[in-house]
Amino acid sequence: MGHFRQLFDPTTSAYTYLLADLEAREAVVIDGASRQAATVLAWLDELDLALRYVTLTHFHAGERDETADLRRRSGAAVAAAATTGLPWLDVGLRHGDTLVFGNQVAHVLGTPGHTRGCLSFLWQDRVFTGDALLIGSCGRTDLPGGDAGTLYDSVVRRLFLLPGETLVYPGHDHRGRTVSTIAEEREHNACFAGRSRDEFITLMSAPALRHAAAAPPDQRARSPS
Ligand code: FE
Repeated sequence: MGHFRQLFDPTTSAYTYLLADLEAREAVVIDGASRQAATVLAWLDELDLALRYVTLTHFHAGERDETADLRRRSGAAVAAAATTGLPWLDVGLRHGDTLVFGNQVAHVLGTPGHTRGCLSFLWQDRVFTGDALLIGSCGRTDLPGGDAGTLYDSVVRRLFLLPGETLVYPGHDHRGRTVSTIAEEREHNACFAGRSRDEFITLMSAPALRHAAAAPPDQRARSPS
C-alpha cells in the first residue's frame, strides 16, 4: 500500500514529500532539506520505515548542502540528476530511470529548463514537478543553467502529455496551494496556457516578468526558487 505525506516549510514556501510502502516499510523523500529533517525522521520512526532514497528535483549552485543532513541521520542514498555535480550524490538519475522502494516504483522524468538537471518524479496518480511546473506558474529561467525554451519543452511536451487527472505536486507555492492537476495547468497556467514556445521565451526574458513567474515581489530576492 502506498502512503503519502506533504510537508510545507513556511520559511521558504518549499514542499517536502514522503512516499512509502507501508508493508515493505521502505520510503523515499523528495526535496528533504535539513530544516525538515526532524519531522521526516519522526515520520520514519512513527511509521517504522527505512528511508531508501533522498531525492532532489534540482539543486542550485551555491545553495547550502542541506540534504546531506538527512542522508547522514537516516542512512538513505541521495539520488538526483547526475548533471547536478553534487559531491555527495550517491545515485545519478536520468530520464527513464526508476526509484524502487518496497513494491513501489517512482519514474524519473527529465524536466530541465529551470536548471539543467531538473527532474520530476511520477508515482501512482501524481507527479512531483519541483520548480519546473508550479501551480499556475513556473520556475525562473535566468539562473545559471536555466533556459526558457528547454523549460517550455519539458512542461508542454513532457509533463502536459501526462493524463489530465494526474495530480501535480510542486516544489513550492507562495500562496499555500498544495496540489493541482495536469488538466488544470494545461488550461489555466499563466506561463504556458495559450502560449507558443517563442511567446514563452519572450515572456521569460522580459526583465519585469522573468522572476514574476516564480515568486511574488517580496520573495524574489530571498531564494533562487
Ligand atoms: Fe529552484
